[in-house]
Amino acid sequence: MQTIAGAWASFALSSRRRKWAIRMNENEYLKQIAALTGLQHYPLQGPWGRKSGSAIGTRDGYVTVIGFQRSREAKIVILLRFKKVEQPELVKAAVNQSAAVPKKHGKLAEVGNDFLRWEWKYSFTKPKPEEVARLADALRECIKAVAQGFYGRCEHCTSASTPALTLMNGLPIFICPGCQEKVHHELDQAAINYDAIVPNYPNGLALGIGAAVLGGAAWGLVAYAINRIFLYGAILIGYFVAGGVLKGTGKVTRFVQLIIPIFTVASVLFGDAIFYTLVIMKHENAPFSTKLLAAVLSHLWEIESEGSGVLSLVFALVGAGYALYAARKPKFKAAFQSLGAPSA
Ligand SMILES: [Zn+2]
Repeated sequence: MQTIAGAWASFALSSRRRKWAIRMNENEYLKQIAALTGLQHYPLQGPWGRKSGSAIGTRDGYVTVIGFQRSREAKIVILLRFKKVEQPELVKAAVNQSAAVPKKHGKLAEVGNDFLRWEWKYSFTKPKPEEVARLADALRECIKAVAQGFYGRCEHCTSASTPALTLMNGLPIFICPGCQEKVHHELDQAAINYDAIVPNYPNGLALGIGAAVLGGAAWGLVAYAINRIFLYGAILIGYFVAGGVLKGTGKVTRFVQLIIPIFTVASVLFGDAIFYTLVIMKHENAPFSTKLLAAVLSHLWEIESEGSGVLSLVFALVGAGYALYAARKPKFKAAFQSLGAPSA
């Protein structure tokens, strides 16, 4: 007993140490990046919510953010923000055609009308800080002909002098106090408008049931064709049902949050019934009939309890959980925060 506890304790300790080491590494690394790029390192701050924060700053009027993102893979992200452009394709083309941007150092992940995001995935060793710094410089240089920097003006009204960056939900932007007020006001208005929507329940029920029937049929056919069921299938059905119900009602309400998981579970069970019906049809060499389907449906519980019904139900519940997550109420909130003290 004691040895297990001891082993556990030392494991927990070493894993905590490892996490600490990773964080220290990231902090040191971002500090180096900041020094090489002329940015500043702000622990805990930035768009990616990591403790190591990000290197943030303005070069030639362009806002640059460099930091770590860890979802399934570890990657370094370079975010470059510029004055809104009409044609973001031009930015994309400029980056793709640039000989100075090394294409083997990650890829252009997204281009919007006021930003580009470059992602550099790595597995064990982090890319050399010098290479990341060179990449950030090359990206900024190559878009100069097609996108402008901010030059200390508010991005929204383009008139008020705004020398300092403000984080809006973690994202560094130039926004004057007046426009911050306006954003708050607009979001309040959007929240009021959302509250004023009258949910259309008949439409929601009709589209939800339609989605559940289609999803169930697909689940049954796929299960029959490959003789397996997939958790992803149930999750997809959950999203599909949630999408249908929400398209119909136009709004997330308690009732919507109640019927989405119920429809999702019903859809998966209906899919199972189709699967068993197909199996019986093949086994008995019988044609499809609604009578047969009805017979299967009325004995579904007995059939399920002998087969993989429990697994289906578990999958359906997970799918319903995802569906609920997909159908959460939109947030109408903007948090403005000034940059803290950079690490020395
Ligand atoms: Zn402004």
